[in-house]
Amino acid sequence: MIKHDHKRADDALDKARREFTSASAGSSAGHPVSATNELYPHEAAPGHLAALLTDLGEKTLYDAAAQCNRCGYCETVCPTYTLTGRETLSARGRNQFMRMLVEGRAKDPADAEEALSTCLLCGACTSACYAKVPTPDIVLEGRRSLDGYGENFVSRAAVFTLLNTPWLFAFWLKLAYLVKRTGLPRLAGAMGLYHLLGMPGLAEAEGSIDKVPLRFAAELLRKDPDLRPEGKVKVNWAYFAPCGPNFLFTDVAMATVRLLKKYSGDGIFIENQCCGLLAHNYGRLEDAREFARRNIVRYEELKAVHGSFPVLADCASCAAFMKSYEQLFTADDAWRARARAFAGAVRDILEFFRPEDLPPTTKAQQTEHGVVTYHDSCRACHGQGIRREPRAVIRKFTGKRYVELPESEWCCGGAGAYAFTQPEISARVLDRKLRNIASIQAETVIVGATSCLIQINAGLRAAYPGAKAVHYSVFLDSNNAAGH
Ligand code: SF4
Ligand code: SF4
Repeated sequence: MIKHDHKRADDALDKARREFTSASAGSSAGHPVSATNELYPHEAAPGHLAALLTDLGEKTLYDAAAQCNRCGYCETVCPTYTLTGRETLSARGRNQFMRMLVEGRAKDPADAEEALSTCLLCGACTSACYAKVPTPDIVLEGRRSLDGYGENFVSRAAVFTLLNTPWLFAFWLKLAYLVKRTGLPRLAGAMGLYHLLGMPGLAEAEGSIDKVPLRFAAELLRKDPDLRPEGKVKVNWAYFAPCGPNFLFTDVAMATVRLLKKYSGDGIFIENQCCGLLAHNYGRLEDAREFARRNIVRYEELKAVHGSFPVLADCASCAAFMKSYEQLFTADDAWRARARAFAGAVRDILEFFRPEDLPPTTKAQQTEHGVVTYHDSCRACHGQGIRREPRAVIRKFTGKRYVELPESEWCCGGAGAYAFTQPEISARVLDRKLRNIASIQAETVIVGATSCLIQINAGLRAAYPGAKAVHYSVFLDSNNAAGH
């Protein structure tokens, strides 16, 4: 857990704000303008993004942060501000910190560390913001400026292994899982296997699921002759196995593939690499680019033979990140165009099916799961704008048993390894989600991201065991298996 000096951070932001106000008053244009980035030399920084692709066009980091007019509309939806009441932990505060750092008005990025590291990257602020300020991307750029961020030996080794020797990564993971299966999960923790893998979040995750797989989804799918591209004239879809469904929730991956096979015709397993989100969010931007390039090349090879097809992913975080691949390559025209084409083919399973694609349901099926509700995973609703599509399909299967979840877009506090790095805030964010679930007496909570699955189920087990979180694909597949 990271300890922060709250007062120092709040004072630094206050000081920067006072300087900003007086500078604004003295500026003929009303705004101090900085042509240079005092935080890092932008053009010579492969560890940073060359530009941010925002809803208002391509912007430098400074221009993106400067879009924030400090109106405060985002404050009511920002979980960290709502729970702490501290301006430093709001989207407005974070953007202001970043602007001051880039302008050189705030000198020490360490002053902003707490503001930056406590952000859930949920994107609720961007959805609420008229200027669509991309606070999560701005925060990540700030984190990349912190001393030593992404340089931890263990996480470097983990990303390196996943990138260059995925079989070794899988071997270590299986070893850790085997230890758990022997009934000695504490030994796995004591051996530091998950930390050795650079995935402290996995230690949390592993403790929150009943049964870890000893054969990963990619291994199973690779052996399925129906999913091979050879000999196929038309490919209607390609399944991309995100790390969550691949390494932890093989039932999710298998359910997705069963649904696709049944309702969307012939398809293939794309035999992908990790999407790169882990590297992107934990300071290894060049590695994230390499993961992206490899997935793009794989897609292009298949497209050259089979023509266009959608690439389906069943974790909203992974799908949202792949849709943003172009932002990784704004300084490289050739890769940028290829990334844009790949991103255009990516679909989240949450948006793929329409109600009419699936068979009618019986009354018995509609009551099978009790009171059903839907939690909007942040990277689905804020990251991809997916809200209506999964609800339409779920309602078809649940009829009157579907009840809308209050504050359904409130983050669950999972956010990758956030539950491990910021356990106190994460628990408070989760608590509000659990109270909302209990308020409608839901029994089944449908989610679209594996991080939410882990976090919400861990919370429900402890505080409201009458309910269970279920992945969207598993929910649809179970209805499918029951009656059709
Ligand atoms: S991030 Fe957007 S909503 Fe929030 S204060 Fe800035 S301009 Fe207003
Ligand atoms: S991304 Fe989420 S936690 Fe971070 S500033 Fe925006 S609303 Fe707040």
